[in-house]
Amino acid sequence: MKKQMFCKNCKGIVEVSQRGNILYEILLWIAFTPVGIGYTIWRMSGQKWVCKHCRKNDLLLLTTPAAEEAILRQRKIREELRA
Ligand SMILES: [Zn+2]
Repeated sequence: MKKQMFCKNCKGIVEVSQRGNILYEILLWIAFTPVGIGYTIWRMSGQKWVCKHCRKNDLLLLTTPAAEEAILRQRKIREELRA
């Protein structure tokens, strides 16, 4: 399932992906288990989503008031440009 969030950097609704790399994680687990554990903890902790376009984590959930406000502002700008 594709997850979407509002990216403050791209100023729009974007697709997001989980930060880090699952293949890299598996390799680390096989080769260096302690490092793999650390990597898994890092991936699971804090902000784990990144924008697919800019790879930054300046993201807002679409359901938060801040995101709704930002989306409305973007829509308004677009409408003004069209007019
Ligand atoms: Zn972005």
